[in-house]
Amino acid sequence: AAQSPSVIVIGAGMSGISAAKTLYEAGIKDILILEASSRIGGRMLKADFSGYTVEMGANWYNSGGPVANPLVDLAKKVNLKSYINDYSNIAENTYKQEGGLYPKKDVEKVDEVATARDEYCSNFSRKLSRNKKKDVDVSILASQRLYGRPPLTPLEMVIDFFHNDYEDAEPPRVTSLKHTYPRAQFEEHGEYPHFVMDPRGFEVVVQYLASQILKKGSPVQLKLKKVVREIAYSKTGVTIKTEDGSTYSANYVIVSASVGVLQSDLIQFKLTLPMWKRMAISDFSMTIYTKIFIKFPYKFWPSGEPGTEIFLYTHIQRGYYPVWQHLDNEYPGSNILMVTVTSDESRRVEQLSNAAIQAEAMAVLKKMFGDKIPNPENILVPRWGLHRFYKGSYSNWPANYNQEKHDQLGAPVGPVYFTGEHNSNKFLGYVDGAYLEGIATANDLIKCIKGKGCKGDKNMEV
Ligand code: FAD
Repeated sequence: AAQSPSVIVIGAGMSGISAAKTLYEAGIKDILILEASSRIGGRMLKADFSGYTVEMGANWYNSGGPVANPLVDLAKKVNLKSYINDYSNIAENTYKQEGGLYPKKDVEKVDEVATARDEYCSNFSRKLSRNKKKDVDVSILASQRLYGRPPLTPLEMVIDFFHNDYEDAEPPRVTSLKHTYPRAQFEEHGEYPHFVMDPRGFEVVVQYLASQILKKGSPVQLKLKKVVREIAYSKTGVTIKTEDGSTYSANYVIVSASVGVLQSDLIQFKLTLPMWKRMAISDFSMTIYTKIFIKFPYKFWPSGEPGTEIFLYTHIQRGYYPVWQHLDNEYPGSNILMVTVTSDESRRVEQLSNAAIQAEAMAVLKKMFGDKIPNPENILVPRWGLHRFYKGSYSNWPANYNQEKHDQLGAPVGPVYFTGEHNSNKFLGYVDGAYLEGIATANDLIKCIKGKGCKGDKNMEV
């Protein structure tokens, strides 16, 4: 076995780096970070697309709320370039399946119902949360039915998608009401969506945090291209095996792999994790959110005037290429459109060739803008669901998955600690959630190392 650092961190995404930095600042510097890919950043991942830097993964952070979003501060520190999107004009930008815009007032009416329904859902959720005696939850869809006006028509569906799936990457039928509404991301961190459009990528934020613990003379080590396949643990420590045959030992390990990865067979635990832990992992949702980028030789969509950047396409098949965004503001002259699909549509699309996806997207664009539009020059389709280091885009809290189970999802087992966006109560699915969870998990471990009680001890029994 190689040398024996006291903490191994698996994963150099936001939560792993945030955890390592927190340990470091508490004086625990004997840290080895093992990352499967060849880079720092995880699901914050840029790509070069026809000469423009676009985000394959995380794209937005929010500002303007009553609680400081740590990302706002971090973005400032690295001078991150972003553009605040304007989502307020969809009533003027919603297209029918067969083509042509819906009259503005028709969409406004549907959107007003959806907004009132959201309000009802938030209030109903608060009511459920106040009921401490009974652990009751319903899906967002159930709450919409209780309101009396669930979405039914294709237009109502696309607006509902915009209000829910576009955020949760899963339909309201699946998503927990109590743990989703009111949306803490907006209520606390704010309503201003900063679309990151920095040539260094959103990942520069993680690189910045990492640079503070990987500086010259620091004992912290980072090893890239180390795919962890086995974590053997006992009361006294951990031994970790990677795909290339290396072995590393430590007193503790922090696992930051996504819940999708934990659900897969990439990492074998020896002892097998206790059944309550495996159930908590298996029952959570790992969703897929797919941003498809398409570049054209020139633009043929409304642009220039404010409020045209987001437009919706309605289809009887819910979630069929529904949310479009032109990137004229972010990348002037780029002639790039971005279309988002989620969940089952993402799963379907990921199985198709780029040519097949392009053909579908072009058919939709022709409905909206006519047959004379030019052929694309390039297309980029991230396939997060198929990637064995991610197995999806981000987590979503399913209905009937209670707080106790979620606590178990994050709970350490012996010397094995768990972190990641999925462990966040409030900001799961988000970069801010990953950042804050890294700190929280590290603080649990610091307490343990400093002799103030180890949460993992009582969890060793199967
Ligand atoms: P990760 O970033 O997944 O880090 C885990 C690391 O562990 C990865 O680097 C992985 O390579 C590594 N790893 C996995 N398995 C192993 C192994 N066996 N051995 C070694 N290493 C391993 N968030 C927002 O806030 N705003 C957004 O707009 C937004 N949009 C998103 C859009 C998409 C398409 C995606 C994919 C995500 C989006 N997110 C967004 C979510 C955000 O990216 C994540 O919540 C966050 O980056 C997760 O950080 P993490 O550290 O928990 O996990």
